[in-house]
Amino acid sequence: MSAAPAVPQIEFANVTKSYGTGRLVLSALDLNIQKGEFVTLIGPSGCGKSTVLKLISGLTPPSDGTIRIDGMTPKDARETISFIFQDATLLPWRTVRDNVGLGLELERAASDRRKKTTAAVLELVGLQDVAEAYPRELSGGMKMRASIARALATNPRLLLMDEPFAALDEMSRDRLNEELLRLREEQQWTAVFVTHSVAEAVFLSTRIIVLAPKPGRVHAVIPVDLPFPRTAALREGPEFEALVARASHVLREALVQ
Ligand code: ADP
Ligand code: MG
Repeated sequence: MSAAPAVPQIEFANVTKSYGTGRLVLSALDLNIQKGEFVTLIGPSGCGKSTVLKLISGLTPPSDGTIRIDGMTPKDARETISFIFQDATLLPWRTVRDNVGLGLELERAASDRRKKTTAAVLELVGLQDVAEAYPRELSGGMKMRASIARALATNPRLLLMDEPFAALDEMSRDRLNEELLRLREEQQWTAVFVTHSVAEAVFLSTRIIVLAPKPGRVHAVIPVDLPFPRTAALREGPEFEALVARASHVLREALVQ
């Protein structure tokens, strides 16, 4: 990537969040995420990781502070953001193709553009042969691929992923991690990812943000300076192991805070 732009793509300034009259979930959060970064949030359950994604996407408002996405409010930036959840959230009565085309339908894209784009992203994630199948006929990994394809079909500038591979076995997860990075080489999106797997965080990210709980706040930031493209072999290297060990240590620190 070339020189960093002056304005970060995601900017949190002094963001505080409580739900209703509940306790403080996030306290004075400052975040700057640049275009093209792959940032992963890790931290104990309940520390506010999902809340950060919901704030970025405008699904919930901050209680205090300001959030800017490409200089806009999250609500105004909404159309440029795609969200992938842990359960693939496919509609059971629609085929894979029609599930993948859903976002474009909601955007009222012209029918020929919709057809072309849907076919292209299905091919990108390797689901072209099961396009007419229904979600119940797919494995967990394939469902997640369909969910990724749907998110990418709208050509997002920002991809938010909340533990998308947590329900998959380790091999499927590793493969999807590799695919996700391959898609990132082909498309231009910035990613904010949430996981409980330190190894997954190291493999995918340009930067890991470790959150501490009660209230949620940044405990540490770990840059991941491993070169791209990253392939399966990277996981066996000493640099990878060292980063996983370091991130695990920092995460344990955050737990006892
Ligand atoms: P994480 O994703 O790190 O596990 P969450 O962001 O889901 O954490 O939740 C952080 C805290 O906010 C938790 O204590 C959770 O119970 C609370 N919380 C999350 N969503 C809501 C909501 N819609 N209403 C009330 N409390 C919520
Ligand atoms: Mg969560």
